[in-house]
Amino acid sequence: MSGLRRVLATDIDGTLIGHGGEDHLVAFFDRHPDLAVIYLTGRTRHNAETVLRRYGFPAPLAVATEVGAEIYWGRHMVMDDIWAFQQRQEWSPRRIRHLLEAVDAVRYRGRSSHWRLAFDVHEPGVLREVRHLLAREQVAVHLLWEEADHRLDVLPAKAHKALALNHILNRAGIRSRACFVAGNGENDRDLMQGRFPGVIVANACHRLKSSTSNTIWQSSRPGAYGVIEGLTRWCNGEPGKPAMVGSEEAGSA
Ligand SMILES: [Mg+2]
Repeated sequence: MSGLRRVLATDIDGTLIGHGGEDHLVAFFDRHPDLAVIYLTGRTRHNAETVLRRYGFPAPLAVATEVGAEIYWGRHMVMDDIWAFQQRQEWSPRRIRHLLEAVDAVRYRGRSSHWRLAFDVHEPGVLREVRHLLAREQVAVHLLWEEADHRLDVLPAKAHKALALNHILNRAGIRSRACFVAGNGENDRDLMQGRFPGVIVANACHRLKSSTSNTIWQSSRPGAYGVIEGLTRWCNGEPGKPAMVGSEEAGSA
């Protein structure tokens, strides 16, 4: 895989789909067959595969599902066993549920997959209490709080899109400069810290827009249109943005 020139590493919901222009994006991919795609999503494997098929997006170089809890490789979605082993080492869902249910004002909502527990948490103060409790019990997790939905998702500590992407790029021998990131949500924030060139689409959440680095283009266009704009700028080496890198740079990350 070391001959890859360019890679798009992208969120799916709200970034590739949901704001129109998906067919334009598919046409863009068709015109750039040398552009490999890594999908980084909160979806499960099954749901990710379904949406890629529905829209006709390219087969993946790799897919990180459930915010990076699992990694699959290639068209046939072969599970990354090294990553899976690392995640399992630190994941104790029954203990987490037991601990959090003992907190007043926390209610267990359910388990949407092996890697994701959901709780009702209505206030930031309760969230602080949960963080304190988990720290005291030395339980390392990744917390995602949807304030508007009063929903707290608990995932394995290493379930982060950027960690999964680093693992993918290392295994594939791709340098970070050859990788362009795209996202819209809170769980894309760790991708936008300056290690990669990338784009934040116009419909992104406020926190994502306010935490950008100078390697990230803020598109005025939403969803797929914003991704196309960002990719086009990157491919053209627009002023002030990282220029497209050559294949000779993509061999020894
Ligand atoms: Mg999203």
